[in-house]
Amino acid sequence: MAMVCPECDYPIDIDEEIDEGETLQCEECGVELEVVSVDPIELAPVEEAGYDDEDVSHVTEENDD
Ligand SMILES: [Zn+2]
Repeated sequence: MAMVCPECDYPIDIDEEIDEGETLQCEECGVELEVVSVDPIELAPVEEAGYDDEDVSHVTEENDD
């Protein structure tokens, strides 16, 4: 299955038996892509995990009334 990288439009060949939630890497720009949907196949760049959680806990800490 031929797809293109959502970040750089580089053509990516995907196994048709790929599962939702699997990740792959664009060999052109190096971005990590997650399969967010398989019918039709949709790819989305993987965000850095944990960053948002860290930010939220920091805000909670400041709420010291
Ligand atoms: Zn790319």
